[in-house]
Formats: sequence, C-alpha cells, structure tokens
Amino acid sequence: MFRPFVFIEHPSFLEHDTGGGLHPEVPARVALIRQRLEHGSLASSMTVRLPKESVRADLLAIHDESYLFRLEEACLAGQTSIDHPDNQISYESFDVAQVAAASGMTAIDLLETGQASSVFCSVRPPGHHAERSRALGFCFLNNVAIAARYWQKAYQRQKIFIIDWDAHHGNGIQSAFERDKEVFYASIHEHPTFSFPGTGYAEDRGEETGRGATLNVPLPPGAGDEMLLEAIRTKIAPAIEAFQPEALIVAAGFDGHRDDDMSGLMYSTAVYQELGRIMRHWGECCQGRVVSILEGGYHLEALAASVEAYLVGLVGFETGEK
Ligand SMILES: [Zn+2]
Repeated sequence: MFRPFVFIEHPSFLEHDTGGGLHPEVPARVALIRQRLEHGSLASSMTVRLPKESVRADLLAIHDESYLFRLEEACLAGQTSIDHPDNQISYESFDVAQVAAASGMTAIDLLETGQASSVFCSVRPPGHHAERSRALGFCFLNNVAIAARYWQKAYQRQKIFIIDWDAHHGNGIQSAFERDKEVFYASIHEHPTFSFPGTGYAEDRGEETGRGATLNVPLPPGAGDEMLLEAIRTKIAPAIEAFQPEALIVAAGFDGHRDDDMSGLMYSTAVYQELGRIMRHWGECCQGRVVSILEGGYHLEALAASVEAYLVGLVGFETGEK
C-alpha cells in the first residue's frame, strides 16, 4: 500500500503579485500543481492542509528584525520591488511570505505528531536565495532555513540534512548554516560560472566549525538525468550516510527540467519520480522525517508534471511499497 500524504498550501499564495508581465514567479505555478494533483493518480491519497500562523521568533532565527521591518514596510508602502527589480512585491507579499515560511513548520508539526507520514509544501514565494537581511532571486524569507531551525528548537532534532536540487544554488541556506556543523547543506545545481546567483563552487565546504557540513555539486550546462543521479549516488549519498541526520528537508526546485529555460540543465520529468524514491529511502534512515518545500520551477506544465512525478516516488505509489 502507498502512504497517504499531506499537501500544504494556502489560498494567499495566489495573492503575492509579481506584477504580471514577464515575471516567471507567478501564482499559476501553485494553482497548476494543485489542479494537476487533484485530477491525477494521487488525488485519493492526498489530504490538503493549511499552514499555521507564523511566529515572529521563528523568522528571527534566520532573518534580522530590521530586514523584516524593511520588507513589511516596502510591501505596505506600495513599493513594487525590494533590493533588486527581480524581487517583485505587492501589498500582500510580506503576509504571504510569512504563510509560506509557516508551511514548513506546519509540515514538521504534522510529522512529529503522527498526523502525516509524508508532506509536501506547495508554497510561493520561494525561499532558498533569501539572505539574512536581503531579498534575492524572487525569495524574501528563507522557508527551508526557517524550517530547519524550527525542527531543532521545537522538537530537539539537532542534526538536520538539507538537500537542495533546485537548478540554482541556495546561497541563503548555505550562508545561514555554513558555520554550523549540525545542519548539513547539500546542493546540486548548474555551475555558478553559468548560472544565477554565482555561488556554490565545489570548493565551498563550510566555514570554521561548520567546515565539512556544506557540500556543493555543480553540474555543467546541459547536464541531464544521468549526471544528476550520479552526483546523488557518488557525492550526496555518502555524505548523508556519514552525517546520520535525524531529519531531512528537501529544497524541492523543479527548474532543472529540460523545458524550463531558467537553467541549462536538462532533467526529464521522470527523474523527479526517481528523486522522490531516493528521498523516501533516505527518510527511512530518520524514521520518515522528511519535509519537502517547493522552491523554483517556472515552466508551468513541466513544473506541475514534475511535482506529481516527485510525489509518486516520494509516497511509494508506483510500486505499491509501504
Ligand atoms: Zn531555481
């Protein structure tokens, strides 16, 4: 039997307005994911849950208070972007970003209280580029980093492994934990020479006491499924094996898909099912404590199909495995 899973989203995710036009980070991203899942093979095993209210203290574990005020003020004052024209905002964006950040924390609550065995957070805006005091790359609050700190604080799971296979390097997650040996950040992304945001070189292995708890695996433009799976098998799997985490957070970005023009990576839809299977397998090592949080993915049809493929692998639907 496959395991029922919880899908976390909130109607407000449609209200973060990036100005229309050509901005790729649009409300239709999450709307289409929901629609696809509701009409697909996973529909009958999916429970939709709303995130709880976010608590400021949890945001402050990752972001400076002055930044939170600055972001809130920018939204309420009617600014259309913050820190860079890429980071489009609307009046609602600060509230929506807080709901997105709360989603990962809600997912953790559901897992830890036995209310879910598998959780996916379909959130926007994304988070992995957001720095302590700066918005970057469509990201405002670092959803994954906030979730990791929450897991430590609320449930005393100290050793957290974050795997990020978005096409881009999660600079914000790395900088949040590069001096921390208890949160391991592993990222597979298009090589920084060719790709935004220009960080994530293989030489970056963490700083000071966190040295060795950061792992960057850059792939050349044009890299496809084989190179991705090889990187997971030969680089990431040994790292997680050695680290022995108590919980796993997946920064689940789908912009490495071959139809997505935000990167030169050439992943197929099918490889995301394989990623789901691998994440499920890794999760077994930490009693199923796996939370996946949506990051990028901008080709709408490819995004929705890839999320579905990922979840099929993650919940074990395709093989009937428990
Ligand atoms: Zn990305």
